[in-house]
Amino acid sequence: MSSILMGRPVAKEIKDNIKVDIAELKKKKIVPTLGIIRMGERADDLAYENSIIDNCEALGIGYKVFELDREDSMDKFTELLDTVNNDDNIHGILIFRPLPAQIDIDIVKNTINPDKDIDCMNPLNLQKVFTGDLDGFIPCTPKAVIEILKYYNYDLKGANVAVINSSLVVGRPLSMMLLEEKATPTICHSKTKDLMKITSSSDIVVTAIGKAKFFGSDYFNDTNVVIDVGINNDEDGGICGDIDYDEVEKIVKAITPVPGGVGSVTTSILLSHVIKACQKYKSI
Ligand code: NAP
Repeated sequence: MSSILMGRPVAKEIKDNIKVDIAELKKKKIVPTLGIIRMGERADDLAYENSIIDNCEALGIGYKVFELDREDSMDKFTELLDTVNNDDNIHGILIFRPLPAQIDIDIVKNTINPDKDIDCMNPLNLQKVFTGDLDGFIPCTPKAVIEILKYYNYDLKGANVAVINSSLVVGRPLSMMLLEEKATPTICHSKTKDLMKITSSSDIVVTAIGKAKFFGSDYFNDTNVVIDVGINNDEDGGICGDIDYDEVEKIVKAITPVPGGVGSVTTSILLSHVIKACQKYKSI
C-alpha cells in the first residue's frame, strides 16, 4: 500500500506563508497584483483563470484580466504586453499558453518584463536556474515537485531521480534544481533506451510526458516514489496523469494523484511569485 502524496497540505503551507506576507504588505497599504493575459476563451484557460481568481480572492491578492481575441495580431499582443509591463499597479504577469500561431512566442519570452515574469518565461530568468541562482522566478511546476518531495520529507541528497521530460518548462529546470539539492537526475525523453530499467532503479521518478495512463506497474517497484506531473484527459472525459494510477498505486512506495497532486501546488507557487515580485518592486 503506497503513501498518497496529496498536494493540498503542501499548497496550504505555501498559502499560509503568503498570508503572512500579505498582512505585512497590507500594513504598508500595498496590494500585490497579478495581471493575466488571455487570448480568446479556451476552456482550459478559463478553468485555470477561475481557479487562480478564486485563490487571489481568498488570499487578498489583486488581479486584472487583460483579454484579447484569439485572432488578434502580434502587434496588438506586443502593445498590450508593453502596457502591462509598464503598469506600476501590476506586479506579476501570467500569459496563458499555448498562444495562437500568429504570436511569436520567442519575442513574447524576451519582451515580458523579467521582474514581473512570475511563470519564468524570460530566458534571463531561466538562465538563472541553469546557473544555480534560485533567487529569481523559478518555473512553477518544477518548484512544485521539489516542494512536494521536501514537504513529505524525502531526502533528495544523493537520491537517483528519473525525470521523464526534457522540456524547458518541466524536465530541464527540474533537473537543475535537483542538482542544487545534490540529487542525481537522469533526464529521459522519447528516445531514451531501457526506460523501465531507469525507472525501476530510481529512488524517485517524475513523469511529465503528456500521455494518459502511459506508465503501468511494469515500470515500477516498491522502492519508487512517483511524482506524476502529466495532465491528460482520460477515456471518460476526466483528468488523469501519465501514470496508470489504479495499477501503480498498489505497488510503489509513494505516489501523487492526478488531480490533487502537483497541479494544486503549482498555482500556490505562482501566487507566491506575485508576492515576491511585489516585494522586490517595492524594495521590501
Ligand atoms: P512537452 O514539451 O511535449 O514535453 C514532453 C516530454 O515528454 C518530452 O521531453 C518528450 O520527449 C517526452 N516524452 C514523450 N513521450 C515519451 C515517451 N513515450 N517516453 C519517454 N518520454 C516521452 O510537454 P510539457 O509542456 O513539458 O508538459 C508535459 C506534461 O506535463 C503535459 O501533460 C502537461 O499537461 C503537464 N504539465 C503539468 C503541469 C502541472 O502543473 N501539473 C505544468 C506544466 C505541464 P521528446 O522531447 O523526445 O519528444
